[in-house]
Amino acid sequence: MTTLLFRDDAYLKSCDAKVVGLNDRGGIVLDRTVFYATAGGQPGDTGTLTIDGRDIAIATTVYDEAKNVVHVPAAPVDNVAPGSPATATLDWANRYRNMRAHTMMHLLCAAVPHVVTGGAINEDGGRIDFDIPEGQISAKDELAAKINALIAEDHKVSFRWITDEQMAQNQHLIRTMSVKPPMGTGRVRLVMIGEGGKVDLQPCGGTHVRSTAEIGAITVAKIENKGKINRRIRLVFA
Ligand SMILES: [Zn+2]
Repeated sequence: MTTLLFRDDAYLKSCDAKVVGLNDRGGIVLDRTVFYATAGGQPGDTGTLTIDGRDIAIATTVYDEAKNVVHVPAAPVDNVAPGSPATATLDWANRYRNMRAHTMMHLLCAAVPHVVTGGAINEDGGRIDFDIPEGQISAKDELAAKINALIAEDHKVSFRWITDEQMAQNQHLIRTMSVKPPMGTGRVRLVMIGEGGKVDLQPCGGTHVRSTAEIGAITVAKIENKGKINRRIRLVFA
């Protein structure tokens, strides 16, 4: 399995690696990478792999069935020899915006204490679907003020690792019904926002900024009804 360097340090912009090989669809697998692969509503990274002096543009990054990270070239490539040294370089502006948007979604979770049924981030922010009982939804302005206060308070984002068994015994930490916690490797990463996770605490394999002020001010763009109790809340960078 690919070593996921972004999991220990989301601020790494590039790394040296070795080519493991091309998969049957032309995706490039390395032994280690800084590229985040599509998961949990966060898009896969874009950037460049430099192999044998050749720059290969990477359009997106995904996981294969064996949980290897697959770098998908923007145009088909061949002659990528296993064992070749490679340098993986992120499109950092794109990734950093994703980190801000993803961390923003944690604060939305913190401000709306209801069951999460889905979510995704995109270029200007992100959205989460919640099951919110009738009459318990906040007004847009009130919700934005709550989240902007959490951003301005500049809470630290930190991590703690627990075992799969501990995760299984602490199911109450799982906020979302739609994304399984990143289990299966024997350990799960808990993301804590604020001292000891007082703002938000949940298992997450995504990439985050170091403290909430980095997100910058937000606006609640839309609160939509998607069913009897399902509400889609969309935030954008202000
Ligand atoms: Zn996260």
